Amino acid sequence: MIYKKSSEEIALMRKGGVILTDTLRRLEAALHPGVSTAELDAIAEESIEGAGARPSFKGYRGFPGSICSSPNEVIVHGIPSPDVILEDGDIVSLDVGVLFDGFHVDSAWTFPVGSVDPQTSELLKVTEQSLEAAITQCRPGNRLGDVGFAVEEVAKAAGYAIVREYVGHGVGRALHEEPQIPNYGPPGRREVLSPGMTLAIEPMVNAGSAGTVVLDDNWTVVTADGKRSAHFEHTVAITPEGHEVLTRRDPI
Ligand code: MG
Ligand code: MG
Repeated sequence: MIYKKSSEEIALMRKGGVILTDTLRRLEAALHPGVSTAELDAIAEESIEGAGARPSFKGYRGFPGSICSSPNEVIVHGIPSPDVILEDGDIVSLDVGVLFDGFHVDSAWTFPVGSVDPQTSELLKVTEQSLEAAITQCRPGNRLGDVGFAVEEVAKAAGYAIVREYVGHGVGRALHEEPQIPNYGPPGRREVLSPGMTLAIEPMVNAGSAGTVVLDDNWTVVTADGKRSAHFEHTVAITPEGHEVLTRRDPI
């Protein structure tokens, strides 16, 4: 069952999106070599709670952090820790969920720490482009397969591998709602998009091969080959005209 949202409900999610993007901005400002992911987690928690919202991930199935912080070869679901110190040349995916007035929004960004090598810059650029290509497909009448295929086309053209075990999702009163949103096709298949759907689209793109491994903490997902992975996510509402990105950091 896909829960469509009324325009009033989408308006609440828009407010949550502003809290989320403001939080990501604060995290980006705090990102420098030597910062720990636990420090980033504290900044995010203060930002979200200070705005009268709650961090969606805290306590979700027992998750201990307010955000997921996933450096380098960590794909998703990294647990913030005082022992994880970011260094110059690292990358880190910061995944933030905000629960505001009964509705969740979900967005992630992979940031460079200090200066990264050109190959890593390319991975970040292509993964962000794959998300934008997917968002371009978000309009009534298109299908979920078109969205996933757009990610796949961009990532594969650059020679990267797409993570298949973890996917995007509907988002709203629950953090994870139907439908699942894989980052691959085929196009022209699966559910037809229609106004009121709210989708968290989140490509996870690996520099090496697609394989994944879950660490002993039962959360942290890493690349099987130890190469880097990037992750970008937006919450997108399908509108009669096309779409609205509810988690844009720089409104356009
Ligand atoms: Mg997320
Ligand atoms: Mg998500």
